[in-house]
Amino acid sequence: MPKFSQSSLSKLATCHIDLQVLFNEVIKTFDCVVTEGYRNKEDQEKAFAAGNSKLHFPNGKHNQNPSNAADVYPYDPIMTIDWNDNQRFHYFAGYVMGIAQKLKDEGKITHAIRWGGDWDRDTEIKDEKFRDTGHFEIMA
Ligand SMILES: [Zn+2]
Repeated sequence: MPKFSQSSLSKLATCHIDLQVLFNEVIKTFDCVVTEGYRNKEDQEKAFAAGNSKLHFPNGKHNQNPSNAADVYPYDPIMTIDWNDNQRFHYFAGYVMGIAQKLKDEGKITHAIRWGGDWDRDTEIKDEKFRDTGHFEIMA
């Protein structure tokens, strides 16, 4: 059974309990890496400057403590995330969203989850201007 690295665990620990429950379930069957949980001001402005976020601190979902967003990617055995491998990211995101729905239906998490590849949650992915395919967040 796959397990999170210490780095992933410490990042996941900065996230909302629903995100912790969700990804602790996902990791049992789909190996993945948590690259970001809570972002402080410095980290948020870095993400903004790099084009990885559209928001300044403290307006991002990563800026609440605990974080209302987690960035999670499918694990790559050679440890080089291929940022252009949209097919694999989309496969992973569909898996995560299916688990999230199941956990919500079972009352194990209390919030709906939104994926950064389908912000308007209409299940279409071609109508999005900004894609953040490793981003998962709590709906308010
Ligand atoms: Zn994110």
